[in-house]
Amino acid sequence: MSLAAITDRLKAAERRAGRTPGSVTLIAVSKVQTEERVRAVLDQGQRVFGENRVQEAQGRWPALQDAYSGVSLHLIGPLQTNKARAAVEMFDAIHSVDRLKLVQSLARLADERGTCPDLFVQVNTGAEPQKAGVLPDQADALIREMRALSLPVVGLMCIPPANLDPAPHFAALASLAARNGLEGLSMGMSDDFECAVALGATHIRVGSAIFGARVG
Ligand SMILES: *Cc1c(COP(=O)(O)O)cnc(C)c1O
Repeated sequence: MSLAAITDRLKAAERRAGRTPGSVTLIAVSKVQTEERVRAVLDQGQRVFGENRVQEAQGRWPALQDAYSGVSLHLIGPLQTNKARAAVEMFDAIHSVDRLKLVQSLARLADERGTCPDLFVQVNTGAEPQKAGVLPDQADALIREMRALSLPVVGLMCIPPANLDPAPHFAALASLAARNGLEGLSMGMSDDFECAVALGATHIRVGSAIFGARVG
């Protein structure tokens, strides 16, 4: 696969879903990929990237952002409270907000800085014990709390359980978002982004299908 192949498939999926081609944001997930592969995708014009670790992003993106203008970075992996400051300094969006303590840290940082990345609440739609994300029945309360603290909550994110049909999880996330008046839906990865687009994804997070398998 390549970036061009994925953008073609994304456009076709948007058309099939009756959505405007180009309306879904493709986040190229560059975690663990070599700098050479990341530069190749930048050279093809991609500007929205996802990383799942703050430290890894800090190590590589400042230099790349000097070399390429207009890069937007999305944090898609779990965020520890002690990395919140580094995260808000580095990222344009955070897709992994999932607990009150983190929300409170983000609110303090937003007050102090006068700005905050776009925030997505990660929902553990499969209620898997090992997985990050707020449980579906606790999502409404967390969203309310974020709004009370004037945080820019723009949508929801999920990672469906492996080896199960993702469609019911995408549909559940979409209905949770609608119920809360949220427009953003960060859902769909290499193996299931077309299904996610059919069910309303506004942001898809695609790694291996663009860059090739992750090494190491
Ligand atoms: C790694 C990762 C992706 C991309 O996964 P691929 O299957 O390589 O497309 C998407 N979302 C999250 C949260 C990830 O950690």
